[in-house]
This record gives sequence, structure tokens and C-alpha cells, in this order.
Amino acid sequence: MSAIEIRGLHKTFGSLEVLRGIDLSIESGEVVCVIGPSGSGKSTLLRCVNLLEEPSAGTVSVDGVELTDPDVDIDAARRRIGMVFQSFNLFPHLDVLGNVTVAQRKVLGRDKAEAERVARRNLERVGLADKVGAYPEKLSGGQQQRVAIARALAMDPAVMLFDEPTSALDPELVGDVLGVMRALADEGMTMVVVTHEMSFAREVADRVVFMDGGVVVEQGPPDRVIASPEHERTRTFLARVL
Ligand code: ADP
Ligand code: MG
Repeated sequence: MSAIEIRGLHKTFGSLEVLRGIDLSIESGEVVCVIGPSGSGKSTLLRCVNLLEEPSAGTVSVDGVELTDPDVDIDAARRRIGMVFQSFNLFPHLDVLGNVTVAQRKVLGRDKAEAERVARRNLERVGLADKVGAYPEKLSGGQQQRVAIARALAMDPAVMLFDEPTSALDPELVGDVLGVMRALADEGMTMVVVTHEMSFAREVADRVVFMDGGVVVEQGPPDRVIASPEHERTRTFLARVL
């Protein structure tokens, strides 16, 4: 059984067809990097995987649950999907511990002690065990993004989706966040990562998916797709970003 199964996925906004038939199977423990030009539909694809956007056609299943089934408990299914965005969206009025416990308590119904125990364990994973009492404004962008990753991990997701998690960061802060993601990959987390970090894709991804114009143009092991792409569109894109 695949961790994520996407079949015949289409998404239109009005007359704009943004996803034009995506089929992707992602195995448990697989790390897939999605690359492609701005506007090619990468974010829309991730947003359809956790139903932040409703697909216009096709099916999406995560961890054996078909999210596009009208009878599914979508809130329950969505809890199994961790999402990390370019903008970290921490609650400014809560300290780090509060940010990592609030959804555990409100959504999963964990008591305070349990939520804090899980939060501390996950803050340790992202290297921020010493920041539990800090407020977001006192943290660097890289630290805030690592708190956002800990917050997602604290919900015990079956899969983690990352949408350009380092694009908003100063260059010197990118490495710490990528390091945390690399460690997660090494632990066997199933991950879909939209990124322009080609060295990360090359070293960490099991598979690279190149999208353009709402379709998957080509995919395969990073050595092949990045080092010797088959399609002209992939070559043109890589020539710009490498
Ligand atoms: P990428 O992440 O690859 O840059 P997106 O998935 O964000 O691409 O966007 C793909 C296309 O869909 C773009 O043309 C964008 O303007 C359009 N789009 C995305 N979200 C919406 C929306 N909510 N309403 C209308 N158009 C949208
Ligand atoms: Mg995007």
C-alpha cells in the first residue's frame, strides 16, 4: 500500500486549469522532491493532498484513507498529514511550548502533561529543546521554521508535506532547517518536499518529480533527473536554477 496515492488529479480555478492530470504513488518512507518553475502547480498539488484545495477531479489517498471520498471524516484524515509552509505561521502570543502543544490539545485532546512531553521530545528532534519558553519574535526565521516542523511532528503524522520550507530564510539559516529535514528522512519519514534546493534534492530525495504546466513532465532518481534530464523543459529549468 502506498503512503500517498494520487490518481487523475485535476484542479481548476475558474477557467484556469492548474493541475492537468497528476498520477503519483509515494511509498512509505520515500522522500520525493518536487521541482519546477513558479506557477507550475506545485503548491496546488500539495494543497490538494491535504484538501486545503478540493480537487476538481481524481482521487487522493493518504495512509490508506481516500480523502476525496465524500463520506470520509476529513478532519481525522487530515490529522495524519503534517504540512510545513514557506511562512511559518506561529502564534505570536504563544511561546514555543504553547505553539507546539495547542493543536495537540485542541485537535487530539491530549492533556497538558502529555502534550508537553510530546512537544519537548519533538523540539529536541529539531534542536530547540532550550527554546521552550521563547516567543516567536525572539527566534530567527530558521528557528521559527524548526518550531513549525516540531509542531507538525507532534501530531504524529503519517506523511510530511513541505512547501518551499527554506525559501523565506536568510541563506545562512537554510542549512539548519535542511539538516532537520535530512534527519527526518534518515528516520524513514515519508516526505514530499517542494524545493529549489537542488543539492538537498540530489542528496536526500529518493525520487525527483519535475512539474511544468500542471503535469509531471518527468520523474526518477535524482542522479538521472537532475544530472541527465530527458526533457528539454527540465533542462531549461535546471539551467536556470543550478
Ligand atoms: P507553484 O507552487 O508551482 O508556483 P501554484 O500551485 O501556486 O504554483 O499555482 C499554479 C497556478 O495556479 C498559478 O497560475 C496560480 O496563480 C494559480 N492559483 C493558485 N491558487 C489559486 C487560487 N486559489 N485561485 C486562483 N488561481 C490560483
Ligand atoms: Mg508554490
